[in-house]
This record gives sequence, structure tokens and C-alpha cells, in this order.
Amino acid sequence: MRRPSPTAPRLASIAVLVVIACGDPDATPGTSGSSGPPAGTDTAPTTSTATTGPEDTSTSAADSSTGVDGDPCDDSPDAVADCVETERYAADLEFIADIRTPGSAHWQAVQDLCFDRLTEYGYEVELHEYGSGVNVIGRRVGMTAPEEIVLLGAHYDHIPDCHGADDNATGVAAALEIARVLAGAPLARTVMVACWDEEELGLVGSAAFAAQAAQDGTDIVIDFNFDMIGFSSSEPGSQEIPAGLDLAFPDAYAEIEANEFRGDFIAMMANASAAAAAEDFIAQADRLGLRAGLLALPAGTETSDLFADLRRSDHASFWDQGYAALFLTDSGEFRNPNYHCMAGPDEIVDLDEAFAVQVARATAGAAASAAGL
Ligand SMILES: [Zn+2]
Repeated sequence: MRRPSPTAPRLASIAVLVVIACGDPDATPGTSGSSGPPAGTDTAPTTSTATTGPEDTSTSAADSSTGVDGDPCDDSPDAVADCVETERYAADLEFIADIRTPGSAHWQAVQDLCFDRLTEYGYEVELHEYGSGVNVIGRRVGMTAPEEIVLLGAHYDHIPDCHGADDNATGVAAALEIARVLAGAPLARTVMVACWDEEELGLVGSAAFAAQAAQDGTDIVIDFNFDMIGFSSSEPGSQEIPAGLDLAFPDAYAEIEANEFRGDFIAMMANASAAAAAEDFIAQADRLGLRAGLLALPAGTETSDLFADLRRSDHASFWDQGYAALFLTDSGEFRNPNYHCMAGPDEIVDLDEAFAVQVARATAGAAASAAGL
């Protein structure tokens, strides 16, 4: 997540619509982040592993019609969600979390990882070289509405001298694992998965892509953006609140206050056209026992500097071009003291991988719904 702008005004004190939903209201506060899915879903059944593993998807190409092969992971959005595997997620997270300043050796290695994973899963992969950097974009063509695109993305660059485990290895690993579970499903719409470059330098990579997409008339129906999805805390007082949020989103503030300011939920920020995707995500979160809090921006306000605190990642590039986008985040420095290595190193040991995997699952299910499964 990029640094806050020092000059932008904080959240406006205007009355806005807010919805906050908390998954599994019966769960003990603070424990939902580490609660797993129903028994047996953490590791995919042997049969599905055999048909969705990298060794088999190489033949599926970018054609959704090959998904109808009896794989139980492809049956429904819930099934897609439950096929997200903790071990695969953890392995990619472990690899990505190292210094990867643009142009560095590990930045290149992570770019290669995105390229190789997406290729392995059967996506058509493009290196989008926009001038100063390189986005990696995978595309899997939909069966009946190929011009309509469901996009998932996360930035793979990071600032110098910081491993960036939360920011944003957690997001890239999620995007790649969701790419895998969506690879075989019979989807109406096209799915694109992106590893964005130079987010920390000002959303440069995603802005270049979104501007080109808008110029070309590309029909992106929803963008799911991950940036920092791995830090949670059940400690009261662990969630700080951006100045002005209590006034702009009083209902969301009240929910967080009632939960004793625990940082145990995934924060969601949606522009008005992303409302349906947000609802699908919340339904998945409820099913999985993941707490989710939504800030729903009123129509037309998503490009305003008044909401600068809510525009600090790549989803803002899509908001700026008039697209629907949903931002999923642990809220960065408002919860994680090691944001940008400010109070300490941003390392995997301080993260809640089970929480991140639940976010990935809920998003996989919501993305499958959005893509017409
Ligand atoms: Zn950052």
C-alpha cells in the first residue's frame, strides 16, 4: 500500500451510506480470523488435487469449456472458494516475501513467478511493459461472455530495504492461488489476474493498464484488489481508525467500537458499482466465519481527495477510469505497526496466514459468482 498523501484532506465529514457485516456473529470475537473452513476443505480432496494441480492444468489452455470435467472444485462458487489451499498459499507467500524493489533481482524473480504460475494454470499471459515497469497479466477467456472481464490484482513491487510480507506478498499469493482455483471452472466471463508493478511509486502500473483499458473500451465488470491482507489481531485497541472515519462512516465506526477496536476483520472499500461483488464477498465471509467490514462509497465520491485514505492502492486506478472495484485490506498502518517496516520488519512470522487464506477463499467465491459460475 502506498504512503498516505501528506497534503490530502482526511475523510470528509459527510453523511454516507455504510454497511458493515460481521461473519459468524456467534463466533468468539477475535477468533474468526484463525478459524478454518469446515473440516476437510483446507486441503483439497485427492481427486481435485489430481485434476487442478499444475501438472494437469497445462492442457486446459485459456478455454473455460475444459472446466466441465467433473472436478468438484468447479461445481459452485462455494466449491471454488473451498479449494483454495493453505499450503500452496503459504509457499508462494514465503517465496515472495523478500526485498523486491523495482529492477532488483527478487523483483524479477517475483515477476517470473507470476508469469510461470499463470502460464502453468492455463492462462494466456502477457508482460505489460508500460514504460517504467512491467505488469504481468493472465487471461482466461469466458465461455459465453468473453468480452466481460472479472479482474483480480495485487502489486508485487515494494519499497527498498523491507521484505514486505504483508505489503504485498500476502496479496500476490492470494491472486495466484485464486487464479489456480478458477482455472478449471466453467465461467461465462473472462477472468484476468494481474501482478501490478510500481504501486509504491504511485499506482503506476495499474494506472497505465486501467487508462489503456478505458481507452480501448475494455469491459472490466469488477476489479478485486488485494493490498495487505495478512495482519489480524484480536487484541482490543489493535485497530486504529483514520481521522474522520467516525463522521464519514458512523455505522462502520460504531461496529468497530462495539468490537472494542479489534483488528480482526477484513476491511472492504467499494465504489457504488462494486456493490454486488461486495455482497457476494460478504456472503462468502459469513459462510466461512470471516469478519468483514464494508465502507461503501456513495456514487461519484470514489475519485474525491476527500477519500484519499481509501484510495491508497491499485483499485483507485480503476475507480478513476469509471470501473467497479473492490479493495480488500487489513488497513495497513492502521493495524499493522510494521507497515513499510516503520516499527519493525514486515515478516511472515507476524502475520495470520489463516486469516489471509480465508480472505482468498471468500474472494475466490465472489469472483466465481461475478464470472457467472
Ligand atoms: Zn506499501
